[in-house]
Amino acid sequence: MLTTKLNEKTHPQHKTPVQLSESVTFGGAEVVIVGGPCTVESITQMETVARKLGNAPVQALRGGVYKPRTSPYSFQGLGQEGLEILARVRQKFGIPVITEVMAVSQIEAIATHADMLQVGSRNMQNFDLLKALGQAGKPVLLKRGLSATLEEFLGAAEYILSHGNPNVVLCERGIRSFDAYTRNVLDLGAVVALQQLTHLPVIVDPSHATGKRELIAPLAKAAIACGADGLLIECHPEPEKSVSDARQALSLEAMVELVRSLPPLAAAVGRTVRIVEDLVAA
Ligand code: PEP
Ligand code: MN
Repeated sequence: MLTTKLNEKTHPQHKTPVQLSESVTFGGAEVVIVGGPCTVESITQMETVARKLGNAPVQALRGGVYKPRTSPYSFQGLGQEGLEILARVRQKFGIPVITEVMAVSQIEAIATHADMLQVGSRNMQNFDLLKALGQAGKPVLLKRGLSATLEEFLGAAEYILSHGNPNVVLCERGIRSFDAYTRNVLDLGAVVALQQLTHLPVIVDPSHATGKRELIAPLAKAAIACGADGLLIECHPEPEKSVSDARQALSLEAMVELVRSLPPLAAAVGRTVRIVEDLVAA
């Protein structure tokens, strides 16, 4: 079984912290909450999310501008215009931003505007992309492939590490199975196994794992109980109007409520969650 190399030299419980900004680090005592819409749609949309959720209960904003859509006829993302929206929101609200990179040619522009580059499930084994991200100079959020084994997942991470970038965060986002009731099956066993196999922080995306908003909160809690270092959850000011993944988008109010329910669970496993006591999403 492949383990990431640093782990072979260090204590199995050792964790490499991955710093996203001055005040946000994956792999520390704090469980990092990443939130935002599936797709960046407008400046108003992103400012609304940032105003209502950043920097607590959400410590990093995530929104796609290059979207890997199943159909070529579906909206493909705002591209450069979306990147500029992310950069403006980052600047105005002082919140780190994360967005997906689909091609080597996009790395430079995305690394200029965002704090972290996401590799989506469909690109987990795009080895040229992974190698180039080794030189991107920004942390990478690597999502597990649709049907990737843990060995393949760790091998993909190792490509980035071995090409010079030690700042990789793994994301379990559900794997394909036979039952279409849920979009995927959240593999919480993998979260526990990865914590034992690698020094890299591991976060969980219950949104793509389930595809259904009503299943997200309980699985977010289960993820924390299993030792996840963070959560990636899709939310939108008007969930039903999301241009992609509407069925799994939480409202901003539901997002606040969800994060508010997490501190006791986090405390039970020796972790913390950042909340704003008096925050009421209007
Ligand atoms: C996403 O994060 O919006 C996304 C496309 O996820 P995944 O790559 O996990 O399917
Ligand atoms: Mn999505």
